[in-house]
Amino acid sequence: MVLSSLPTYISTRGASPEVDFAGALLAGVAPDGGLYVPRVWPRLPENVAGQGGDATAQAAAVLSPFIGEALPAGALDRATARLSDQFAHRDIAPLVEVAPGLFMLELFHGPTAAFKDYAMQMVAVLAETALSASDERLLLVTATSGDTGAAAVRAFGGMERIDLVVLHPLGRVSPVQRLQMTTTGAANVVNLAVRGDFDDCQRMVKALLKDPELRAARRLSSVNSINWARLAGQIPYYASAARALGAEAGQATYVVPTGNFGDAFAGWGARRMGLPMAGLVAATNCNDALVRALETGVYEQVRARPTASVSMDVQAPSNFERLVFEASGRDADLTRGLFEDFARDGRITLPDDLRTALRREVSAVSVSEAETAREITRTWTECGRVICPHTAVALHAARRLDRTAGPVVALSTAHPAKFPEAVEAALGFAPERPPRLEGLEGLSERFKTVDPTLESVLAAIDLPR
Ligand SMILES: *Cc1c(COP(=O)(O)O)cnc(C)c1O
Repeated sequence: MVLSSLPTYISTRGASPEVDFAGALLAGVAPDGGLYVPRVWPRLPENVAGQGGDATAQAAAVLSPFIGEALPAGALDRATARLSDQFAHRDIAPLVEVAPGLFMLELFHGPTAAFKDYAMQMVAVLAETALSASDERLLLVTATSGDTGAAAVRAFGGMERIDLVVLHPLGRVSPVQRLQMTTTGAANVVNLAVRGDFDDCQRMVKALLKDPELRAARRLSSVNSINWARLAGQIPYYASAARALGAEAGQATYVVPTGNFGDAFAGWGARRMGLPMAGLVAATNCNDALVRALETGVYEQVRARPTASVSMDVQAPSNFERLVFEASGRDADLTRGLFEDFARDGRITLPDDLRTALRREVSAVSVSEAETAREITRTWTECGRVICPHTAVALHAARRLDRTAGPVVALSTAHPAKFPEAVEAALGFAPERPPRLEGLEGLSERFKTVDPTLESVLAAIDLPR
């Protein structure tokens, strides 16, 4: 008997039915509260980091074993074609050497100038295709501190089977980020500015996802990096970096600016699939729950402090659960126990053997605000490049590593023009805007301002059912 190619996904908490790629994509979180991971990690196709093929072909080769026959033929090619259509750089994610042996992987050439465009652009096409195949509609709700919402609005705007509700904290996203969300004119997007902070937005999203009336009326999901499809969609650029490094790729260390640990977990996944690399470093700002967990074994949720790298002001990185599951030898009972306790108490102590295992998989360092600002200045004066504060966190951590052992690659996650205040504070001038960020101010904005209550939010979501 020939088995059809249908890769499946299991929950990190072990109590959900297996689903295929489309099921994981449309569900977001597993029903038991866990996160989906592949039941079996596929191997990267032979020589994927070698020569030949363009960046979109390489992305398709990396993603194809995750999808198998779960989506109609042609879906993946249409998804990866969006990378070449929508990205402003021929290489999509170019690798540039900024000092001998020190590289930046530029992930900000997409339509909203942050790395989240890369996966989101593809996920939107894959989701629309999955919904056509099952003749369904989907309501996506997402909270954002700026970049996720902008990338989602650009990716999902105009989709026929998807409605998108984005909640951002009123007055707390940068003007560029707000304009990117509110000026597209897409009829299937509802922007809500919540009188509150990011935590209020996230609380509202959780309340919406649980609301019985809404659930009865609509299929609901979310598009942050708990969604497996978004994580998978970030694996290809590690392979493209390896290809650009050539013979040295196996000695490379990747330094990933980290908030929810999605981008870093994608790097972990690339290595798990066989991509050669020497190390993986998660670099946080002063919101360092992950660093403390690996150092002390205590994983504790404290209130996030505002920093210049706003997209990394995360106090409980959601994808840490995936790393714990994998590092524990896929112990779903242990993972469920730990993260149910964490949800209840906001604090857990990791068993010693688990902490040791986690430290074998990834290292984590935190970078202060002063170091971030100094790195922006240093990269400008020494390398002639203006970088965003998130990139600065990674590049600062990267400089601490020994580069005689092999190349060090810092992921550059946003264009500096998205964060002009932080750049101007460090350099005394504002970064130049690339063409795709120009002209936003002239467009008319559409958003509704709501109170941080479920009633207020529900009243504002006036979508056809
Ligand atoms: C979201 C974001 C990050 C953090 O990515 P995670 O996957 O949440 O760790 C880093 N930099 C920028 C610019 C971002 O938008």
